[in-house]
Amino acid sequence: MSGEPQTNSVSKGKKRPRKLNGPVDLERIGAAVREILLAIGENPEREGLRETPERVARMYEEMFSGLRKDPAVVLRKTFAEKYDEMVLVKNIGFESMCEHHLLPFFGKAHIAYVPNGRIVGLSKLARIVEILSRRPQVQERMTEELADLVMQELDARGVGVVVEASHTCMAIRGIRKADSVCILTNQSTRSEFMAHIQTGK
Ligand code: ZN
Repeated sequence: MSGEPQTNSVSKGKKRPRKLNGPVDLERIGAAVREILLAIGENPEREGLRETPERVARMYEEMFSGLRKDPAVVLRKTFAEKYDEMVLVKNIGFESMCEHHLLPFFGKAHIAYVPNGRIVGLSKLARIVEILSRRPQVQERMTEELADLVMQELDARGVGVVVEASHTCMAIRGIRKADSVCILTNQSTRSEFMAHIQTGK
């Protein structure tokens, strides 16, 4: 990486940079999409496809905009609060891109944590879901990254994250079931968390 100051990375092991710098190379994406069209035997100059490379480039820039944002920063503004019950935000919608097929997957995230003297605005949890989903992703890692972030940045006493998603890469092959991935760091809050998630979806 360049000489950019790195945010203190607390992530254990897997070293993915929290945030990239510099713009997305739209021209390069456009050229690559044109190549794909040629490779499948299409004519990139025909009317319907003429603007496709540029359009795909702009769409990818948006779908991957989370690579250039640091989710940890979002959680830095916390409030001192004596409240020590579980805080739960349900049904945070997201759209992400499966890194194995570059096809969308989308669904809902539910995040719960047990504070340790500090809480964060509820909208901030939705914001970190957005940042982490707008990257090449897999559902399992996204779930884990959400849990790690909340645990580390809020110094929470426990965290629970459930991410439910439908994968278009599976749907187009006839596998239609929505997947659910769950991570809980604190077993004592498990039943309470799951009870809340399962009621009133
Ligand atoms: Zn996939």
